[in-house]
Amino acid sequence: MECFSHQDRAAAGLCKACYKAVCRSCAIELPNGLACTDACAQEVAEVNQIIERSKKIYGIGRHKSRLPSSGVLLWTVFAVVMWGLFLVPYFVADKLLYENLAMAILFSLAAGLAYYSARRTGVQC
Ligand SMILES: [Zn+2]
Ligand SMILES: [Zn+2]
Repeated sequence: MECFSHQDRAAAGLCKACYKAVCRSCAIELPNGLACTDACAQEVAEVNQIIERSKKIYGIGRHKSRLPSSGVLLWTVFAVVMWGLFLVPYFVADKLLYENLAMAILFSLAAGLAYYSARRTGVQC
């Protein structure tokens, strides 16, 4: 394989952002790979930040999660979605969707229960 910008030079690796082949003179060395341009280096840095952040959120690797347990989070997300599905038709079309309201209350209760049981036992599930 040859360098994307220098046809006479052999590629030393691939840019981590756009996967173009780069030679030794045009590659930008990053802590965990190569980039072909400053823009790509920036993008790789941003992606790394996102990966690091999600590692923290999900408690993967050396980072310990400080957020409530995943069960609480899951129920909260469900509850918020269901409240949205109830409130949006209500405000937009003046329609009361009782099944959505029931689901929203149910999910909220489940989230609350999961939260309190997680706090009481101190178990992170
Ligand atoms: Zn690139
Ligand atoms: Zn090159």
